[in-house]
Amino acid sequence: MAREFAKAFYNSKQWKECRRAYIAQRMAADGGMCETCHEVPGYIVHHKIELSPENINDPEITLNFSNLKYDCHVCHQKENKGEMEGVHFVQYGFTEEGEVYVLPPV
Ligand SMILES: [Zn+2]
Repeated sequence: MAREFAKAFYNSKQWKECRRAYIAQRMAADGGMCETCHEVPGYIVHHKIELSPENINDPEITLNFSNLKYDCHVCHQKENKGEMEGVHFVQYGFTEEGEVYVLPPV
Protein backbone atom coordinates (compact mmCIF):
# COMPACT_ATOMS: atom_id res chain seq x y z
CA MET A 1 0.00 0.00 0.00
CA ALA A 2 2.33 2.66 -1.20
CA ARG A 3 1.16 6.15 -0.57
CA GLU A 4 2.39 7.84 -3.68
CA PHE A 5 -0.40 10.40 -3.62
CA ALA A 6 0.70 11.62 -0.20
CA LYS A 7 4.36 12.06 -1.03
CA ALA A 8 4.06 15.63 -2.28
CA PHE A 9 1.95 16.50 0.73
CA TYR A 10 4.48 15.14 3.20
CA ASN A 11 7.16 17.14 1.44
CA SER A 12 5.13 20.34 1.44
CA LYS A 13 6.02 23.41 3.45
CA GLN A 14 2.48 23.60 4.84
CA TRP A 15 2.72 20.12 6.32
CA LYS A 16 6.19 20.67 7.76
CA GLU A 17 5.01 23.91 9.34
CA CYS A 18 1.84 22.30 10.62
CA ARG A 19 3.70 19.31 12.02
CA ARG A 20 6.26 21.49 13.74
CA ALA A 21 3.56 23.69 15.26
CA TYR A 22 1.65 20.63 16.44
CA ILE A 23 4.70 19.11 18.09
CA ALA A 24 5.45 22.46 19.73
CA GLN A 25 1.91 22.45 21.11
CA ARG A 26 2.33 18.91 22.45
CA MET A 27 5.67 19.86 24.00
CA ALA A 28 3.95 22.73 25.80
CA ALA A 29 1.07 20.50 26.88
CA ASP A 30 2.87 17.48 28.33
CA GLY A 31 6.46 17.53 27.20
CA GLY A 32 5.69 15.83 23.91
CA MET A 33 4.69 12.41 25.22
CA CYS A 34 2.92 9.85 23.04
CA GLU A 35 -0.78 10.72 23.04
CA THR A 36 -1.77 7.06 23.07
CA CYS A 37 0.34 5.35 25.74
CA HIS A 38 1.68 8.49 27.47
CA GLU A 39 4.72 6.46 28.44
CA VAL A 40 7.32 7.41 25.89
CA PRO A 41 7.98 10.54 23.88
CA GLY A 42 6.03 10.96 20.68
CA TYR A 43 7.74 10.15 17.42
CA ILE A 44 5.29 10.45 14.55
CA VAL A 45 2.49 12.92 13.87
CA HIS A 46 -0.39 10.69 12.88
CA HIS A 47 -3.55 11.62 10.99
CA LYS A 48 -6.60 10.25 12.81
CA ILE A 49 -8.57 10.30 9.58
CA GLU A 50 -6.27 8.52 7.16
CA LEU A 51 -5.08 10.55 4.22
CA SER A 52 -6.59 9.39 0.97
CA PRO A 53 -6.53 10.60 -2.62
CA GLU A 54 -9.95 12.14 -1.88
CA ASN A 55 -8.95 14.23 1.13
CA ILE A 56 -5.30 14.94 0.42
CA ASN A 57 -6.16 18.46 -0.76
CA ASP A 58 -8.48 19.20 2.12
CA PRO A 59 -6.66 21.22 4.81
CA GLU A 60 -9.50 20.48 7.24
CA ILE A 61 -8.19 16.93 7.20
CA THR A 62 -4.52 17.22 6.36
CA LEU A 63 -3.57 20.30 8.40
CA ASN A 64 -6.18 20.32 11.14
CA PHE A 65 -4.74 19.92 14.65
CA SER A 66 -7.87 18.07 15.73
CA ASN A 67 -7.09 15.40 13.15
CA LEU A 68 -3.55 14.99 14.40
CA LYS A 69 -2.05 12.85 17.10
CA TYR A 70 1.49 12.60 18.36
CA ASP A 71 2.33 8.92 18.63
CA CYS A 72 5.34 6.87 19.58
CA HIS A 73 6.57 4.36 17.02
CA VAL A 74 4.88 1.38 18.66
CA CYS A 75 1.44 2.97 19.00
CA HIS A 76 1.61 4.28 15.47
CA GLN A 77 2.33 0.78 14.20
CA LYS A 78 -0.65 -0.58 16.11
CA GLU A 79 -2.98 2.06 14.72
CA ASN A 80 -1.94 1.29 11.20
CA LYS A 81 -2.22 -2.46 11.64
CA GLY A 82 -5.29 -2.61 9.43
CA GLU A 83 -3.34 -1.64 6.38
CA MET A 84 -0.23 -3.68 7.04
CA GLU A 85 -1.14 -6.64 4.89
CA GLY A 86 1.03 -5.94 1.89
CA VAL A 87 4.76 -6.60 1.92
CA HIS A 88 5.16 -3.33 0.09
CA PHE A 89 3.61 -1.28 2.85
CA VAL A 90 5.52 1.95 3.04
CA GLN A 91 5.61 4.12 6.08
CA TYR A 92 6.98 7.60 6.33
CA GLY A 93 8.90 8.99 9.22
CA PHE A 94 10.56 12.31 9.89
CA THR A 95 14.04 13.22 10.91
CA GLU A 96 14.57 15.89 13.55
CA GLU A 97 14.95 18.42 10.74
CA GLY A 98 11.51 17.52 9.45
CA GLU A 99 12.78 15.69 6.41
CA VAL A 100 10.71 12.75 5.25
CA TYR A 101 12.21 9.30 5.08
CA VAL A 102 10.77 5.88 4.49
CA LEU A 103 10.83 3.55 7.44
CA PRO A 104 12.06 0.02 6.79
CA PRO A 105 9.31 -2.61 6.53
CA VAL A 106 8.40 -4.20 9.86
ZN1 LIG B 1 2.75 5.20 22.51
